[in-house]
Amino acid sequence: MGLNGVKEVFGGSTTADVDVLICGAGPTGLVLAMDLARRGVSALLVEKSDRLFPGSRGKGLQPRTQEVLHDFGILDTVRAAGREYPRMLAWEGPDGRTRGREWDMMERSEPTEQTPYANGLLIGQSHFQALLHEELRALGGEVVFDAELTGFDQDADAVTARFADGREVRARYLVAADGGRSAVRRLLGVAMNGESVDPKPMLVADVVVAPDAFVDENNWHVWSGPSGPVVLCPLPGAFRLFQLIAQYEDVDAVPDATAEGVRKLTATRTPLAADEITEVVWASEFRPRAAMAERFRVGRVFLAGDAAHVHSPAGAQGLNTSVQDVYNLGWKLGQVLRHGAPAELLDTYEQERQPVAADVLGISTRLHRRALLGADSQRGNVVKQLGIGYRGGPLSSGAAGALQAGDRAPDGTLPEGRLFDLFSGPHFTLLAIGTEPPAVRSELVHVHTLTAYETYGRGLFLIRPDGYVGWAGETDRGLGEYLARCGAAPRTPARP
Ligand SMILES: Cc1cc2nc3c(=O)[nH]c(=O)nc-3n(C[C@H](O)[C@H](O)[C@H](O)COP(=O)(O)OP(=O)(O)OC[C@H]3O[C@@H](n4cnc5c(N)ncnc54)[C@H](O)[C@@H]3O)c2cc1C
Repeated sequence: MGLNGVKEVFGGSTTADVDVLICGAGPTGLVLAMDLARRGVSALLVEKSDRLFPGSRGKGLQPRTQEVLHDFGILDTVRAAGREYPRMLAWEGPDGRTRGREWDMMERSEPTEQTPYANGLLIGQSHFQALLHEELRALGGEVVFDAELTGFDQDADAVTARFADGREVRARYLVAADGGRSAVRRLLGVAMNGESVDPKPMLVADVVVAPDAFVDENNWHVWSGPSGPVVLCPLPGAFRLFQLIAQYEDVDAVPDATAEGVRKLTATRTPLAADEITEVVWASEFRPRAAMAERFRVGRVFLAGDAAHVHSPAGAQGLNTSVQDVYNLGWKLGQVLRHGAPAELLDTYEQERQPVAADVLGISTRLHRRALLGADSQRGNVVKQLGIGYRGGPLSSGAAGALQAGDRAPDGTLPEGRLFDLFSGPHFTLLAIGTEPPAVRSELVHVHTLTAYETYGRGLFLIRPDGYVGWAGETDRGLGEYLARCGAAPRTPARP
């Protein structure tokens, strides 16, 4: 069986054996499959649909997610395909054609040495997913389409998953990346606890606007009216493609997501004529909910992304939090499956990610209730997710210089190299700053000695594969034990 390239096995037979079965090829499943592929873990990524999701819904990549993409080596490609967030522009006047106030949806910040990606990047989710799919293929992986998981059992050694067409897969672990209505979560009987964020229904659609229509691609256009706000956001990568979001003041309204319905809504609530929407590529209605799964792990099954938590779109948090769930899980699965780390390492996934998800839920709900689309809708820096960390968590040990274990490891441009480049890849990185490094004989740990870097201060810093300080100290006391917990042995940290 080819590494991750199990398509031929699963495609030609009724059963397959893999280390990890990933259910759902949204951004969560695709990023996990990429991470496992680069770690040499055999994984099967299955998708019930016959293609990747075609809509733009999660269109904002936050700075922390851009750092993740840097680690994967695909940030330049994604940035080239995306664009900066355009400024919001409120249209006013009786005909909705008078330019009003302009503002930034996301507070803008200047990049720094420590935080080189300071602002959100705009790219439609379907476009982003296509790039992830391309990268997965380049890593030797594949998505198996038309494969709907309908049931599974787990025993002490593995999960046996069943598919709608009778196929079966036996996997050591199953990851539910199957979205907000997760079949895996339901089959597990895990409750989703939460609330409706807003009773007002919404409609989201990707529309092509006629070239000569008066809306340009330099702004995110906003119309506010008695029936509710409508926004049109230009999407990069396709000529005159916009994401339309409409909110309905009437809680009993039933959004019409047909092409005709979208055209009618546009003509009623914006100055655009119905026939200026030349194509409706995709449309859907939704009512924002904020909810989190009671557990993120049951035995050999993990919940990640929207399967574990759903949000309001306010603040562009859902897709980003989803990507970071599996960025946390991927290396742990890799260490357990390929490097003999104790299985308890996997317990830290839920312990670390559930509090993060709970915080993010609170943030997106507060933002939604304050102002979803209107003039007060500017989002502060909290949505950039750069402040998220695992201080005090089960896998954070020690402190040194200016940092504590659990902190995000900042970037730096030093004579010895750019830190994010040193971190990039599936390995751990041990930085010895202003001190002698211990002898760590493990190919899983890259050791670098730096003369000085104020941002970190003096000491030893072990950076986890997901870019957080895992362990820090002024001496190497405790480092060996930490590495053993993470399966980063063989190693012999010798005392100087
Ligand atoms: C209007 C709107 C705007 C948004 N804006 C943003 C934003 O700007 N930024 C942001 O971060 N997030 C945003 N989000 C949220 C974002 O879209 C989601 O958080 C993201 O799609 C979650 O990814 P996922 O992979 O976990 O789930 P999904 O994208 O839902 O993918 C799940 C996949 O699993 C497949 N699947 C389901 N059941 C099965 C099964 N039984 N067997 C096999 N496959 C199955 C599905 O077909 C699907 O492809 C927005 C959402 C909406 C609705």
